[in-house]
Amino acid sequence: MHGSFPITYDPGVIKPPPLRTLLEDAAFRRYMKTLPSLPDNLSWGKPWAVIALRTDGKWMMGKFGQYGQAWQMTVRLIRDTDIEDVSLVSRRRLFAPPTRTEDYKVRVRARGLTAAKIETRTREVPVLAHLIEYPYAWCVRCRRPSSFEQFTRHHAIPRNVPLDEGAPRCVFCGMRLAS
Ligand SMILES: [Zn+2]
Repeated sequence: MHGSFPITYDPGVIKPPPLRTLLEDAAFRRYMKTLPSLPDNLSWGKPWAVIALRTDGKWMMGKFGQYGQAWQMTVRLIRDTDIEDVSLVSRRRLFAPPTRTEDYKVRVRARGLTAAKIETRTREVPVLAHLIEYPYAWCVRCRRPSSFEQFTRHHAIPRNVPLDEGAPRCVFCGMRLAS
């Protein structure tokens, strides 16, 4: 890990369930351990970051070229008792909450026919909806439920970038709350 930000955690911020707790959920663990697809034109350099909050309130960030490297660092930090929470952040691609395709059957009665027939259709079902409950929301960069708060300064956003203070941002990565 390199780069430690001398900004302390705002105690007023609502803390989401830590990643180590979220990973106890089988569906979330499967999601995190699956290599996310990144198109070639977004894979250059270091498209992944790990942002960690230490128990003393300081933030740390490291950038990684491969998802596997970022995941290994995330696992190391989860086991570290000096780390309160950690996010594995996608720096270039945004990820909507994952879904899976589900088949379902409907009874349709065609015009002019007396007998109804059963048709199989498909729909997208959210996989992690049980983890994304108010006041937490899905962060499209952290790829996890997170807290969104208003900041005047944010550890993940350069100081010369003006913050529109009304917009809630992810406490880990600074992403605006998707509406
Ligand atoms: Zn985030």
